[in-house]
Amino acid sequence: MEKTICLLPGDGIGPEILEQGVLVMDAAVAKNGHHFHYEKALIGGAAIDATDSPLPEATVAACKASDAVFLAAVGGPKWDGLAPEKRPERGLLGIRKALGLFANLRPALLLPQLAGACLLRPDIAKKGLDLIVVRELTGDIYFGEPRGLETRNGSRVGFNTMIYSEEEIARIARVAFTTARQRRHKVCSVEKSNVLETSRLWKEVVCEVHKDFADVELSHLYVDNAAMQLVRDPSQFDVILTGNIFGDILSDEASVITGSLGMLPSASMGAEGPGLFEPVHGSAPDIAGQDKANPLATILSAAMLLRLGLGMPEEAAMIERAVEKTLADGYRTGDIMEAGKKAVGCRAMGQLVAERL
Ligand code: NAD
Repeated sequence: MEKTICLLPGDGIGPEILEQGVLVMDAAVAKNGHHFHYEKALIGGAAIDATDSPLPEATVAACKASDAVFLAAVGGPKWDGLAPEKRPERGLLGIRKALGLFANLRPALLLPQLAGACLLRPDIAKKGLDLIVVRELTGDIYFGEPRGLETRNGSRVGFNTMIYSEEEIARIARVAFTTARQRRHKVCSVEKSNVLETSRLWKEVVCEVHKDFADVELSHLYVDNAAMQLVRDPSQFDVILTGNIFGDILSDEASVITGSLGMLPSASMGAEGPGLFEPVHGSAPDIAGQDKANPLATILSAAMLLRLGLGMPEEAAMIERAVEKTLADGYRTGDIMEAGKKAVGCRAMGQLVAERL
């Protein structure tokens, strides 16, 4: 299979971790005789320095022409003083919009090798944590109109609009049910239908779409209860389906309880065209250029790229097994270091995973 991958290294630790992600992905696909072509493009602070824009037109064109986009991270103190519309993070929002990425998939997986890092009580952690949050990414209160800040009767008010159309709900629900079919066949839809009309429609439409996925078990939770259940017993969840604002909060909660920011991958998908695959963490300017970063979130994002972006589940599983084997063999970067383990840097970690493919 010949595929073109657009690489967006970005800022801070971005270039170092992406190099290891590509090394491992390339080695995995080569095992089955495939060959990828890589096209590098600018985004974030690196793009601002070179072109004065966080998302140059050439980057959008390169992404659209590719089969999948592999992004590391953007941002850093150098660009913190810029106006909001000029900041590196605008590049991220811009590329998600340009590619029409409406579904964000964030797995939270607690590997037994890293159980010590989990923030939950050991008896809860022992039950396991292997879930994925499917979050709608382009609608909801973050984008609804009208919105604004104004003065009414001498008092300042701020307002936003929570809005979802049935089409928006149905397409993200289908992503969640399809994802569940590749996992443990369970979807929990999270909303606030006891208070919000938007959520009442959400629940109704999710139930309608469910009729086409009768082999998947569907449950419903109010968002406040879901937040609580995530720390009380996350083992009950397989796929969590939710809207943009609830998903923003719940996906961070689900991932932080694993205790390992440097381990968490993500995928953003549209209706057609390339998906975008990236680690959850930022550009970690405090450790950039020191060979200290953990490349495993990026390497696991490469696995998501292969499975979800290119339909190559065998190669994806190969990478995931190699990561687990590397951890089982006792290798750790600084952020996940424990007593008695072997400390390695970013490059060595990538190399160790590649050797275990
Ligand atoms: P961060 O995720 O970059 O770092 C938080 C902490 O975790 C730091 O101590 C960092 O050293 C550590 N860390 C993060 N990734 C690591 C890794 N792979 N290996 C080892 N340690 C790791 O978040 P922050 O410090 O709040 O933000 C730094 C910059 O990144 C900011 O400019 C922010 O806007 C940007 N950011 C970008 C993204 C993205 O590109 N998707 C996401 C979050 C933050």
